[in-house]
Amino acid sequence: MATLTANPPTADSPEVRRYNRIQRWLSLADALIGFALLVVLLLTGWTGKLRDWSYLSARQHYFLAVFFYVLMFSVIAKLISSPFDFVGFRLEHQYHLSNQKLRGWLWDECKGWLLSLALGTIMVELVYAIIRVAPQRWWIIAWAVFVGLFLLLAQLAPVLLMPIFYKFEPLANDALRERLTKLGERAGTRVRGVYEWKLSEKSNKANAALTGLGATRRIILSDTLLQNYSDDEIEAILAHELGHHVHKHILKGILTQVGITFFGFWLINVVLRFVIAKGWFAALDPRLYDFANLPLIVLVATLLGFVLTPALNAISRHHERQADRYAWENTAEIAPFITSMQKLAGQNLAEREPSKLVELLFHSHPSIGKRIAAAQAWAGKQRAGCEVLHPH
Ligand SMILES: [Zn+2]
Repeated sequence: MATLTANPPTADSPEVRRYNRIQRWLSLADALIGFALLVVLLLTGWTGKLRDWSYLSARQHYFLAVFFYVLMFSVIAKLISSPFDFVGFRLEHQYHLSNQKLRGWLWDECKGWLLSLALGTIMVELVYAIIRVAPQRWWIIAWAVFVGLFLLLAQLAPVLLMPIFYKFEPLANDALRERLTKLGERAGTRVRGVYEWKLSEKSNKANAALTGLGATRRIILSDTLLQNYSDDEIEAILAHELGHHVHKHILKGILTQVGITFFGFWLINVVLRFVIAKGWFAALDPRLYDFANLPLIVLVATLLGFVLTPALNAISRHHERQADRYAWENTAEIAPFITSMQKLAGQNLAEREPSKLVELLFHSHPSIGKRIAAAQAWAGKQRAGCEVLHPH
């Protein structure tokens, strides 16, 4: 154990700190500019102009007009955020974390935009259709419909959405597959598949995840991980992902979303009615189905998301600690877990010791430093326990 902890750096290099700091500012700037767009659309009344153009282009057809509005909105939002996206692309290259060509990146951006347009259109059309049919109780019905949509998307993500951006292949390494089967049998559970995630065409970072729901449930391991980590280390990571499965973290995440969405739609309904009654924004029609109020709906949802982020991150970090613990308890040794964490930090330029505030606001995972310390503390306790049971 001593040799493991003596070699790797324990403090973060200035390079690592700088990379993470720039990334945080980029995501903050991106969020703030999106927020500003919504406020400007409402305050200037431009949202009313967009609505009028939409009706004109759609020859007064309501649902076609809603689509044109979403289209214009999403073009404007993409144009505004694209400089930040490009800086993010350059940043990954500056730090040698990506070798993706500009053309490939632009194609990914196009696909991402089209996908968000498609999903956004479906959600917005559904919301306004429901408002038209049931203006009083629309928010409860919309919530129920969105719950169905979440469940569908969680199921389709690994088989339909993620393959738009990445290739996946069943894991070819038989020895590893067998280890997972054994891990699963011991846990009395079966994860239906392990897939190799071809991440290396786009990034040098390593990653692994548990995705899907029901029949599409699977563990994915990036090829960048499979190439550089020992079988023992990969087994530790597999065990961590299996821990998420055993602790039903995806289901718990969806249930949390279900609760938040219920509150969110209720809040949107209250705010919409209040703001319209007060006449704060002249462009908005008193009738709720006037889709010029879309920026207000998105604004309430966005603000709610901002406010809840620290709590959601805390829940996620709790789940990560549970999955880590599961991995320690179900693998023969603690050392491969620790070395895999050290490798991940180095390969992904992750901060081992972020500040308390940064962890609170931005991190869905405990810092690598804390994860390693917790693993060592756990192993220490196990050893002490063994000595009590089998005194020499
Ligand atoms: Zn995890």
